[in-house]
Amino acid sequence: MNRRFLTFAFVVMMGIASIGNSARATEMTDSTNTQTQTETTTEVLQSVTTPTEVKIELDDKGFIQVSWSKVDTADKYVIYRRVDHEELAAEYMTVNKPTIKDKKVEKGHIYYYAVKAVGVGGESSVSAEVYKFVAPDKPTITGTYTKKKKIKLSWEVVPAADEYVVYKQFSSGEYIEVGNTKKNSYKDSYVKRGEYYKYKVGYKINLANGKTIEKKSKACSVYTNLIDPKKKMVALTFDDGPGRYTQEIVDCLKENDARATFYVLGCNIDGYKKALKNADKIGCEIGNHSYDHKILSTVSSDEVKRQMKNTDAKIKKITGSNAVTMRCPGGGVNKTVQGAVGKPIILWSIDTLDWKHRNTQKTISSVMDNVKDGDIVLMHDIHEPTKRAALYLIPALKKQGYQLVTVSELAEYRGYNLKKGSIYHSLRKKK
Ligand SMILES: [Zn+2]
Repeated sequence: MNRRFLTFAFVVMMGIASIGNSARATEMTDSTNTQTQTETTTEVLQSVTTPTEVKIELDDKGFIQVSWSKVDTADKYVIYRRVDHEELAAEYMTVNKPTIKDKKVEKGHIYYYAVKAVGVGGESSVSAEVYKFVAPDKPTITGTYTKKKKIKLSWEVVPAADEYVVYKQFSSGEYIEVGNTKKNSYKDSYVKRGEYYKYKVGYKINLANGKTIEKKSKACSVYTNLIDPKKKMVALTFDDGPGRYTQEIVDCLKENDARATFYVLGCNIDGYKKALKNADKIGCEIGNHSYDHKILSTVSSDEVKRQMKNTDAKIKKITGSNAVTMRCPGGGVNKTVQGAVGKPIILWSIDTLDWKHRNTQKTISSVMDNVKDGDIVLMHDIHEPTKRAALYLIPALKKQGYQLVTVSELAEYRGYNLKKGSIYHSLRKKK
């Protein structure tokens, strides 16, 4: 019971004492005030009793309904409410009927109520508290393998929770408690690379009556590698750069633990060396897109080779090695090109046509409406609307469960051994 309730109980008890023995109360003090009060109370002999049978339930709309026994001598009832970890209940509302419906409730909180009756005869003491925990939707837990070789778990906050308990599955199949925290995240450093680990989290609520509520989440599985082959992946590719928007896209990729492939033109590299270096640093792939956007199907085999070689030389200065994959400008490819490029030819399965419409929303929709596991998406990082689309798409795809990987990573994890001169539009899971 809290302090405020005790104060009320005290006042009421004093009231009852003065009704029961009014003569003594008058003797005890000469104050005129007390005499007046005594006269009033003697007129109304019926005291106001404390509401009993206080019941609480959650209706199908998620509102809380509290009801109690009617007190005949009461004109109204004062409701007290406190939420979660608050210690003091505050006067919440006053009603005439012995029931309330509280619509101001949210999932994940615990609500406590008590009620006091008020009538001409005075006030009752405050009833015992009743409570209801408004359960959140199924608890969720997600985990990622970090660069520091730990698994970082996080989950949604349950405001009513006193603590969260983390469970890990051991080889016996059993989930064993490995830690507890007041925060909504937890790091597990006892993990090896290239393995799957399973976790659950439970929230614990310690109730005023000494009981505890504990609810566990569904299991989440974390693969200790940067890429989980069991999850969806997509390769975003940006052609014709590097350019003035490349760095911003790289920053966004970095923030989202994502990577992309930049099919660059040799002639643009010197102007944006730093952006390209940063892309390489976060694991992006730098692919070859010819030196100056020659449509390779229209030139000689020697010219194809020259275009590839000159660009590779520039790429090597940035990354330390030649490009692994290439993309033909304009998708122009024929047997001569296939024979001369010396690298796998990567085309695309989603063409955003961003260069044509220069419309951010159209670029976004063409990806979000069509994307599937194993897709290769064609965009151009030299256009501002495309940059804006990329800044939206990178977190949005991640949120949908896609891992944003490079073309070479996609090939590796989907089991492709890319061949020189062969053409690839997508790299889907083999059946
Ligand atoms: Zn191009």
